[in-house]
Amino acid sequence: MVGKNGLVRPDEFRKNAHALVDWIADYLERSADLPIVPAVAPGELKARLPASAPEAPESFDELMADLDRIVVPGLTGWQNPGWFAYFPGNSSPPSLLAEMATAAFGQQGMMWATSPIATELEMVVLDWLVDLLGLPQGWKMSGPGGGAIQVSASDSSHLALVVSRHRAQATNPIDQLVAYTSAQSHSSIEKGARVAGFKHFRAIDVDDEFAMRPEALEAAIAADRESGLIPAFVCSTVGTTGTTATDPIEPIAAIARREGMWHHVDAAFVGSAMICPEFRVHQQGLELVDSYVFNPHKWLLTNFDCSVFYVADRQPLHETLSIVPPYLRSAAATSSEVVDYRDWQVPLGRRFRALKLWWVLRYYGAEGLRSVIRRHVALGHDLAARIEAEPDLELVAPARFSLVCFRHRAGNEATDRIVEAINSSGASYVTPSLIDERRFIRVSIGQTYTEAEHIDRLWKSIAGAL
Ligand code: PLP
Repeated sequence: MVGKNGLVRPDEFRKNAHALVDWIADYLERSADLPIVPAVAPGELKARLPASAPEAPESFDELMADLDRIVVPGLTGWQNPGWFAYFPGNSSPPSLLAEMATAAFGQQGMMWATSPIATELEMVVLDWLVDLLGLPQGWKMSGPGGGAIQVSASDSSHLALVVSRHRAQATNPIDQLVAYTSAQSHSSIEKGARVAGFKHFRAIDVDDEFAMRPEALEAAIAADRESGLIPAFVCSTVGTTGTTATDPIEPIAAIARREGMWHHVDAAFVGSAMICPEFRVHQQGLELVDSYVFNPHKWLLTNFDCSVFYVADRQPLHETLSIVPPYLRSAAATSSEVVDYRDWQVPLGRRFRALKLWWVLRYYGAEGLRSVIRRHVALGHDLAARIEAEPDLELVAPARFSLVCFRHRAGNEATDRIVEAINSSGASYVTPSLIDERRFIRVSIGQTYTEAEHIDRLWKSIAGAL
């Protein structure tokens, strides 16, 4: 409860914080046993909350009691090892603790001058990632490019679209610009193109393994040129949402360069796997692209939000985004000695997100993170082998990473029955998907604590539904 003048004393904070940390440690221990899908009807949680905010202060014990009474029953099991839905949204103890310290510091890292450590730590950690993931050296802050932590992959792709539009618009009418991506790319690319003001958007045909066909891209560009339109942006995906298909970056980059287009790469989920050199064959050609995004908040044990965005050349980004009113001027910025991250994003204010990534990279070490990724990929390969050995089931795409996509050979209804069996088991949770009217099941392996026993449980549900 707050004291005189609305202040909370440090000793009271210490007592409350200890109670909360104990509660969190207990929660982490029991979270694998909590329901993956919360057993609540729409509106049920709202009904447990008062209609208005309290007039009188409440005690911390009352706040804590409501964690169990109201919050936990409404949580979805993203941190449950039986979570195989969407892509993972990981957390880990060092990341969680860093979030707590970050909140204590309350930094507003819009410029170097408003938080030197938020700025410089971010620069260093993103340079580390260039080496750890085998990314082009020119993306380091010492080169022409550089990286910034954004809220989400959607945000990062939107930024790339905005910069490409700004650049192309200097010499072309905006309503003639075209953005291209594959028919299997994430919806954030189409949404970003719309928000960035592109009037023309093309979803390019894919091959049998759901990767963009460069010849289809060339044909679409030729048709657009014929009608007087201007190709301005193309996005390749490394690890599509549906099946983790990887677009061929090199031929797409050759087309992009020839046509003068901005080439962005979306590696939202799969980018984390590049910490293991054996997967880098899927990112060949990155030195030819203009921008890149991947999400440590998916598969690199770092709490949402943490999306890493790199550009090969930071000049066009700043030309698009830098506006410096008098109240945001600083001696450091004027001397050009510092990076002001407000020029790397649409909003002005920004969180100090580098601390959690720094702690994750240090606490696990590169070898610890590699072993987590390799464990998940091995679990995926094990599941894929079981599916291939089962005559009623078929894989719908190669399981190159840890996502396994399969269906019942008898068709959509039989596939739906398997989904129902898995999701009603209470032990595992998957999201079904659809390509060309054929339903399939995505088993997305990547939750921090998923191990062989959780795949065994999932397999029991699948086998029981055949
Ligand atoms: N791109 C791809 C390939 C994705 O799979 C996803 C989400 O799963 C996104 C973008 C969107 O990510 P975010 O939620 O960080 O915007």
